[in-house]
Amino acid sequence: MPELPEVEITARLLDRELAGRRVASALAPGINALKTFDPPLSALEGRRIAAVRRRGKNLIVDFDQDGPPLALLIHLMSAGRLQLFDKFAGPRDRTSRLLVRIEPETAQDGTLELRLREFGSKQAAWVKLLDASELEQDEALAKLGPEAWPDPGSAKELAELLDAPRPLHALLRDQRTIAGIGRSWVDEILWEARLSPYKRGSDLDVQEAERLREAIVSVLGGAIEHYERTISLPIPDKLPMPLRIHRHEGEPCPRCGEELRAVHFEDYVIAYCPTDQTEGRVLKDRRLSRLLK
Ligand SMILES: [Zn+2]
Repeated sequence: MPELPEVEITARLLDRELAGRRVASALAPGINALKTFDPPLSALEGRRIAAVRRRGKNLIVDFDQDGPPLALLIHLMSAGRLQLFDKFAGPRDRTSRLLVRIEPETAQDGTLELRLREFGSKQAAWVKLLDASELEQDEALAKLGPEAWPDPGSAKELAELLDAPRPLHALLRDQRTIAGIGRSWVDEILWEARLSPYKRGSDLDVQEAERLREAIVSVLGGAIEHYERTISLPIPDKLPMPLRIHRHEGEPCPRCGEELRAVHFEDYVIAYCPTDQTEGRVLKDRRLSRLLK
């Protein structure tokens, strides 16, 4: 599940390689992940890539002003990857959703193909080719809250942002409230801040908001630094997420040694340390209670 750190490292690595390069051709094979039809993908032919960047969990490819202003907006959803290969995808590759072939700059340049791939049975990842002037108004970007990283604002600003009678775990994952955090990193952030996943946003005091602000910056920033050291192009299918709490239930807490616990929901799991986060209370695990009925 790519979240802010995974999308950020993807944008950085692709930008370093692709900024300034020209598109030879673009197509969306098989199941059509392309959600727009005007302008057509062929409008990208011959266009120079200006930058690859991130907004929330979205990837944006900007094109140079050497033609009509265009931008590709991409969402990886839960199982997508945007990767750069030095071979073209084979005709039987069923994971490809978008293929952008890059023109060689010099005679020595080899083949280069930017590929949106998706793993698993769900087809959810999507692409939009937009007029650049319409990018910010697109529904995927228009309703996004402020970026969680590098600066989620002061403790006071963050407390105001989260001032709602909803659990922190839900608020922090709500992209309209704050952009970039999902099911994996929220557990790491709340553990780092020693806050209960069920504490209401409106109940945060100033000190807690400050701890949360520091945790958001250090956890997400630390993950990006980790990826800078460990990930390179083409960008691996499976990202080595440096998680310590999420998916670690049953293991000792890295801080206090207490057993990490979890609450299971249909499509996600909350992991936490009872000693550090819930005053020693073990939260009711709905999955277990349902199984026991
Ligand atoms: Zn602990």
